[in-house]
Amino acid sequence: MDEIPFLSLKDVNGRLREEIDSAIRRVLDSGSYIRGAECEAFESEFAGYCGTKHAVGVGNGLDALILTLKAYIELGRIPPGSEVIVPSNTFIATILAVSEAGLVPALVEPRIETANIDPGLIERSISGRTSAILAVHLYGRAAEAGRIREIADRRGLLFIEDAAQAHGAAIDGRRVGSFGDAACFSFYPGKNLGGIGDGGAVTTDDDGIARMVRMIANYGSEEKYVHALKGVNSRLDEIQAAVLRIRLARLNEDNERRRKIAADYIEGIKNPRIELPIPGIAEECVWHLFVIRCDARDDVAAFLASRGIQTGIHYPTPPHRQGAYHEWADRSYPVAESIHTRALSLPMSPCLTDEEVSRIVDAINCFDGAWHGKSRKAPGLGNNPRL
Ligand SMILES: *Cc1c(COP(=O)(O)O)cnc(C)c1O
Repeated sequence: MDEIPFLSLKDVNGRLREEIDSAIRRVLDSGSYIRGAECEAFESEFAGYCGTKHAVGVGNGLDALILTLKAYIELGRIPPGSEVIVPSNTFIATILAVSEAGLVPALVEPRIETANIDPGLIERSISGRTSAILAVHLYGRAAEAGRIREIADRRGLLFIEDAAQAHGAAIDGRRVGSFGDAACFSFYPGKNLGGIGDGGAVTTDDDGIARMVRMIANYGSEEKYVHALKGVNSRLDEIQAAVLRIRLARLNEDNERRRKIAADYIEGIKNPRIELPIPGIAEECVWHLFVIRCDARDDVAAFLASRGIQTGIHYPTPPHRQGAYHEWADRSYPVAESIHTRALSLPMSPCLTDEEVSRIVDAINCFDGAWHGKSRKAPGLGNNPRL
């Protein structure tokens, strides 16, 4: 029986082999490898896709977040040392960016149904020192951007999106990346829009922020050897930009395939022990991950592994339980903790076939509540590409 990988990046890019080969050759022959014609074209295509005036290509998604926060600080729109509201349930990069920019993360619990930040809880976490709300569109599902925008406007705060998992998700026809004052994307290979290396972008309608992000990311310079401020080096390279242009042209089609797979999972999985994600409104979710929940999560993973099906956990440990934030060890975020102990991600990729999906559905429907095999440790587990 063939293994069903959690996500085969080789397949994702392999189907575009000829296009990618010729794009790489084109870059090689151009002699321009950083911030050249490919980057410029990608920035304009990606801004057009998101519906924003600007997209600035940067080195990775974490840098997109850090550079955005630093740009607001540099322009005097975020006070140094102020508080930024972030979800307690996210990939840790969101929170690390706030710390790295010298700001204070204020954690707010998610809604259990969506795993996204609960707008009803944001308001009571706003203090006199709060400067911004940094919301994440987790697992590919758009956060409640309308309500967050309203709270931010009423309380005089910035709204920044972490859209690293949700390229193409939309609310009422408007795509994520265009709701916040600025939005941050990652093009890590495993994302819905991914390169063959690191990459990221900041989208915004704000000329000043776009210019400042670009400048900080280029040694604080707009003119060669003239350095207006203490910047860093975080730029999108030409090979990534060229590959991302190819992937962007197929993003809607890939997201459609993910939606079909999610619909098939939701329709086919009938096991009272397994909780399925809410389908929600189709366009709002691009299913970066398909996360089920179950009390016997590790048993389900081991059972699926015994049937050749790899799974992932997003994420095994919540940020406030990580060594990086040992100072928060005695805090409690019960909703985030419950998601982290019960979540299991099923294979999800535009390359997953109908046969593979039905094999996964059948296997889950056979799970009887416990894993009866020898090892509780699933062979595929912990081995997956980080997402
Ligand atoms: C992947 C990810 C990031 C970081 O992106 P990198 O390109 O890996 O630095 C940030 N936030 C979220 C929610 C992510 O999933």
